Amino acid sequence: MPKTKTNDPGAHHASSGALIRRFLPYLANYKMVLCLDLFCAALTTLCDIVLPKIMSIITNSAMGVGITLTAGIVLKLAALYFVLRIIDGAASYYMSSIGHIMGVHIETDMRRDAFDHLLQLDHTYYNNTKVGTIMGRITNDLFDVTEFAHHCPEEFFIAGIKIVASFVILCRASIPLTLAVFACVPLMGVVSVYLNGRLRARFRQQRVQIGELNSTIEDSLLGQGVVKAFAAEDEEREKFAKGNRAFEQIKTLGYYAMGAFNTSTRLFDGLMYLVVILAGGLSLVYGKITAGDMVAYMLYVTTLIATIRRIVEFAEQFQRGMTGIERFAEIMDTPVAIKDAPDAVPLQPGPGEIRFEKVCFEYPDDHNKVLHDVSLDIRAGERLALVGASGGGKTTLCNLIPRFYEVTSGRILIDGQDIRRVTLKSLRQDIGIVQQDVYLFSGTVAQNIAYGKPGATRQEIEAAARLAGAEKFILALKDGYDTYVGERGVKLSGGQKQRIAIARVFLKNPPILILDEATSALDNESEILVGQSLEKLAHGRTTLTIAHRLTTIKDYDRILVLGEEGIVEEGTHAQLLEKQGVYYRLWNQLPAEDGE
Ligand code: ADP
Ligand code: MG
Repeated sequence: MPKTKTNDPGAHHASSGALIRRFLPYLANYKMVLCLDLFCAALTTLCDIVLPKIMSIITNSAMGVGITLTAGIVLKLAALYFVLRIIDGAASYYMSSIGHIMGVHIETDMRRDAFDHLLQLDHTYYNNTKVGTIMGRITNDLFDVTEFAHHCPEEFFIAGIKIVASFVILCRASIPLTLAVFACVPLMGVVSVYLNGRLRARFRQQRVQIGELNSTIEDSLLGQGVVKAFAAEDEEREKFAKGNRAFEQIKTLGYYAMGAFNTSTRLFDGLMYLVVILAGGLSLVYGKITAGDMVAYMLYVTTLIATIRRIVEFAEQFQRGMTGIERFAEIMDTPVAIKDAPDAVPLQPGPGEIRFEKVCFEYPDDHNKVLHDVSLDIRAGERLALVGASGGGKTTLCNLIPRFYEVTSGRILIDGQDIRRVTLKSLRQDIGIVQQDVYLFSGTVAQNIAYGKPGATRQEIEAAARLAGAEKFILALKDGYDTYVGERGVKLSGGQKQRIAIARVFLKNPPILILDEATSALDNESEILVGQSLEKLAHGRTTLTIAHRLTTIKDYDRILVLGEEGIVEEGTHAQLLEKQGVYYRLWNQLPAEDGE
């Protein structure tokens, strides 16, 4: 569970083995491509293995050892090498195109799964996680998976073949010399593993920090209106500079780690060549090895060192890929708290009766009781208003009906069906919500209205807009229904956005309606227009209205007053006024009574 919104959640450190196990199922989908890729990898090693042998034959025969060199033999050797190079070319082409494409497929699959998982996470997750960090995780962090997916199996495979082959061939030339050269390898292994670990830690820090930086940028850009209103550019610049510098520092540390790592490999290269010069030279002096073998030996050691160098270079890529997989796994491991029960069935359509039975609720990350033992029957088609002080739990109560949050105890029934026993999709299709803040997606007006009903026809969209009282202003826009609304609808007024939101719900046509301060943010004129649209929308539906201005709900069937102790008063406007209690004081705008 994520803790605070300032930290990148779930930065736990998984072992490499565990991460590779997370990755293997994705690789397994491309078994055939991978096998062919590995086969090509094996082919490309052939040239590297054969070339030293050819050079050795030529050198030895020139020095009078082994076969006598003729022009015919040279031509044959050249032809052999030529054929091998052609094969090598074809194999290399396959590896670097198809192999990478396989990596892209895997990256795409992982991104799809991560996004899919994100769609299932509930409000609690999004309340606690910065969007900037999530964005980084499913975009940039997965970039390196392509290289990783393709190179990881291939490089290890090639290296394995080359190391084993060169060991065998070198042993045939001289066992003591080979043992001396290979003695350097374990030492190098230990040092590399240590330095590699440090490198990975640095990469992880970089990812976390770039996520933080993204969030800072996102915050500043989304808040440009406020930034400008307060002329707070200097503060924003400073906030950004801090994040930017932190990222610079972490990158700097990363390059120190990389420097140490690369230097260590060069030192080991040198060590191996030193062994060859010393032990090989002495073997030559004492006649233990032929000149041809020595040439072949040098070439094999060069191949070996090049191979080790590649693994080492690849180690960096490997660590980048692992960091990406790790951050992917952290998303995938975030539990889906609100989901369909295994035996969930679609909600049976009904008239729209809602029943709260002893419902208690506290926010999962807060443990402060917001609703206590709320029991409530809402008849089908009833118009119910929720009023009370801000923070009294009105929104919370409404959010429990579509299961945006799960009741802590008790249950909620819609038309006699426990909402936890029905599928989320069918439940949420049954409920229409209009809130104070309207979210419009980037796209046209028509596309935004159509969000209420996938596949809606143009006629349906226009009919919904008409019902919502939105037609007049929509037709007055530059391109009518095809007007692009701008990011989050910045090009529309509050009242216009609100009527688009209402049109969406008309299109959805649910039996249950929740209106959460839908007109609170509007000016008087818009409030009247939107109020009329809502009036029409509510007709014939079970409606829960959270009202800010009491005049708008005085004709409602029933009014509930929510206080700290739950429902404190209930009745019609007239009944509640007569009671001269909390509602009476709210209506007359009197201060709350002390000690109650
Ligand atoms: P109302 O809609 O009546 O103004 P809310 O239902 O929004 O009240 O809030 C009720 C209480 O729950 C408040 O004390 C508020 O601070 C708290 N609260 C609201 N949303 C959350 C949340 N996502 N996490 C934790 N506490 C919350
Ligand atoms: Mg509220």
